[in-house]
Amino acid sequence: MPHVVTQSCCSDASCMVACPVNCIHPGPTEDGFSTSSMVFIDPATCVDCGACVTACPVDAIKPHGKLTPAELPFLEINARYFDDNPHLIRSVLAPVHPRRALRNDASRLRVAIVGSGPAGMYAADEILRYPGATVDVYERLDKPYGLARYGVAPDHQRTRKIHNQFDVIASQPGFQLHLGIEVGIDITHEQLAAGYTAVIYTVGAPNDRKLDIPGEGLPGSMSATGFVGWYNGHPDFCDIDVNLDHERVVVIGNGNVALDVARILTADPESLAKTDIAPAALDRLRQSKVREVVLLGRRGPAEAAFTLPELVGLGALTDVDVVVENHSESISCDTQVGAALSSIAGRPAREVDRRIVLRFRSAPARILGNERVEGIEVQRTHLVNDNGKIRATATDETTVLEAGMVLRSIGFYGRPVDDLPFDEQTGTVPNTAGRVVPGTYVAGWIKRGPTGFLGTNRTCAQETVATLVADLEGYR
Ligand code: NAP
Repeated sequence: MPHVVTQSCCSDASCMVACPVNCIHPGPTEDGFSTSSMVFIDPATCVDCGACVTACPVDAIKPHGKLTPAELPFLEINARYFDDNPHLIRSVLAPVHPRRALRNDASRLRVAIVGSGPAGMYAADEILRYPGATVDVYERLDKPYGLARYGVAPDHQRTRKIHNQFDVIASQPGFQLHLGIEVGIDITHEQLAAGYTAVIYTVGAPNDRKLDIPGEGLPGSMSATGFVGWYNGHPDFCDIDVNLDHERVVVIGNGNVALDVARILTADPESLAKTDIAPAALDRLRQSKVREVVLLGRRGPAEAAFTLPELVGLGALTDVDVVVENHSESISCDTQVGAALSSIAGRPAREVDRRIVLRFRSAPARILGNERVEGIEVQRTHLVNDNGKIRATATDETTVLEAGMVLRSIGFYGRPVDDLPFDEQTGTVPNTAGRVVPGTYVAGWIKRGPTGFLGTNRTCAQETVATLVADLEGYR
């Protein structure tokens, strides 16, 4: 009986280091690692030792015999990855990463990290692998861990366990956390650059993208980022205007954040009460009149931005009906996402009072309302192949959906950092393998843009720290 990865895991590769037979893929050096929403265990080579279970920071791995009915699809998902990737070398001993030593004086490695989210914590861990190194992490909020604290949905308690891994990183000798210090206000880049061997910015992509459509500024129209911050108790979003007095909420976009907010809006508040959701948000959700959340994807099912594990989790909800509309008449089952969507689309309606509607080929035209949001006008789109990229173009077929709240969940955008260059197009700080200029570095979303999973930041931070060390040692 093999072990099985059962969720969109953190992908930080801890399990691969622990595995004695190298049966977990894709690894950091393999194709697809940076884009895969999870890692997979090869049932043919797993020796069922359970080492990966102990190493996994988010409790994502289970022995086959302990899968719940909702997790059973992951048995097939894990196995199919290896059927689809027969080139993978199986059963070679996993690499062990030794502690490293600098060629030059190790005590020179004194690094300031700005931001204590996943990229900052993984960068700190990488630096502290060098004996004698020290790290000072500066965080503007009064609690650490950034998106791992304020971005993970409260019904994903296993993913939130990544905090424990960050606590272990923070407990290492040489690690210092400075909370409530905002770089640019309380301390300048110049001061940091003068006081440390190097400065790494891991400040994420805190801004949300805008739709630029009429009505976007109405009360009740807001970013999913703000809504996620609200239910997670982020101090910047505690007081936002959340209107749950209407039966319908419309979410624009169909990425994993859109699925998160749809699940929280339709969840049984008593199940959320068992989580660490912000108490004020729980009180409001207990009085919520919301019965339907509609997710608008401007393109088709094949182009949906959510990932397979998240979709499987959505389909497994028992107290919410999930409905697929406008799916271009047929959904291709060639991909695992297509097969999962098709199975959801084909099942009979459930006798429950809350539902999530996945609507495709539907773009927002304008948000309607006088004093506040009352609805949204939606344009049907058709898809065109533009040099291999599938784009949505609007048709003149429109519909109006009444709604009390419209959440745009269309991705994040970086905020410029004082004294550093900024690329307006991508919302990132231009860099080469993490180097902005020698002595100043970036990692995480401010380096590569708002994509990937918590653990993607480990490989991203590893690359940045390798660049930093190479600069310090004088070789490129
Ligand atoms: P995302 O995955 O980039 O999805 C953005 C969505 O917005 C897409 O559906 C996109 O459609 C749509 N969109 C963009 N501009 C639009 C416009 N002008 N009008 C209509 N729709 C528009 O972003 P995200 O959901 O914020 O997630 C960010 C990252 O965090 C992702 O890598 C995600 O996987 C990760 N994340 C992971 C988890 C998890 O693993 N559980 C949870 C949350 C977030 P097009 O595709 O047509 O552009």
